[in-house]
Amino acid sequence: NISENRPVIRQLDDGAINRIAAGEVVERPASAVKELVENAIDAGARRITVDYADGGKTLIRVTDDGCGIAAADLPLALSRHATSKIDGSDLLDIHTFGFRGEALPSLGAVGRLTITSRVPGAQAAEITVAGGQAGGVKPAALNAGTTVTLRDLFYATPARLKFLRTDRAEAQAIGDVVKRLAMAEPFVSFVLRDTSGGGDGREVFRAPAQTGDLFDALHGRLATVLGREFADNSLAIDAEREGLHLTGYAALPTYSRGSAVAQYLFVNGRPVRDKLLTGALRGAYFDFLSRDRHPAAALFVDCDPRLVDVNVHPAKSEVRFRDPGLARGLIVSGLRHALANAGHRASTTVAD
Ligand code: ADP
Ligand code: MG
Repeated sequence: NISENRPVIRQLDDGAINRIAAGEVVERPASAVKELVENAIDAGARRITVDYADGGKTLIRVTDDGCGIAAADLPLALSRHATSKIDGSDLLDIHTFGFRGEALPSLGAVGRLTITSRVPGAQAAEITVAGGQAGGVKPAALNAGTTVTLRDLFYATPARLKFLRTDRAEAQAIGDVVKRLAMAEPFVSFVLRDTSGGGDGREVFRAPAQTGDLFDALHGRLATVLGREFADNSLAIDAEREGLHLTGYAALPTYSRGSAVAQYLFVNGRPVRDKLLTGALRGAYFDFLSRDRHPAAALFVDCDPRLVDVNVHPAKSEVRFRDPGLARGLIVSGLRHALANAGHRASTTVAD
């Protein structure tokens, strides 16, 4: 009987919609850390602390000294597609990490989320949401900024929980995310602590705020994240082509790695994992490195936001350049030029 089996179209409720979105935004604990640290940076924080326990599976806590969220706005911060960062009129002109208004509602749908926040001149307040059910706004104690605590990630979606890797592997991914964002923001201080088993925890990573001009700050941050040896064996890159700017540091070929983990790529300040850019990096070193070696580099491509679309995927780690050939050419020629000059310098030193 066809009429009995006819499919019924229904509007999904907010809880279901948020869980579906969470599947894209929050793949693993490290993706939650990424969203929360990006929010802290967008809030103008100068100091960001990330605590986690059990690879982030039981606890993730991000504390910042940014602008805070007014008590009256806390419920809105948890609602879908609510953002203070864009007004929706120009999706190509984006200057913040966030803009989709999806992270907090998604996290609240797949874990137990508490946001405690204080704006200057007001009392601190907090709100808790678990499995998509938000409680009321309550007074809280906090000096300044925002603390977001996420417990029991994926408790509401056991299928996702099953796909998580070992605590160690998840902790590693958290460390990687924090280091990439720390590289993007050398003037902000970062502390990462593993608090598994309680107590103050074990410090995993610390990057003090850098000072000076951007190149110096970046060099200092590079030494913190990738090691003094990398910083001392890398070439400053500064190139420009038709409105696309390339800056950063690239390691001498002698300082290459067996894997691509030491490749830090940013587009308009946003850490990206982009095939076009990693391919260009590889291409630039083609004559200088054997096939199994990977160049270490921290490279920043900056351009008018209208020349690159970051809204390719909810996680925003892929980008699409309006002119991919231009981006590739800039990287290949900018790096080759620096490498060739370094080679020249090296050979004259030997000749001396
Ligand atoms: P988005 O970052 O895309 O705007 P989110 O769901 O991540 O969406 O956050 C929603 C809103 O909550 C933000 O637009 C911002 O106004 C506020 N917010 C989130 N985290 C913080 C924070 N750490 N400090 C200040 N405001 C925040
Ligand atoms: Mg956000």
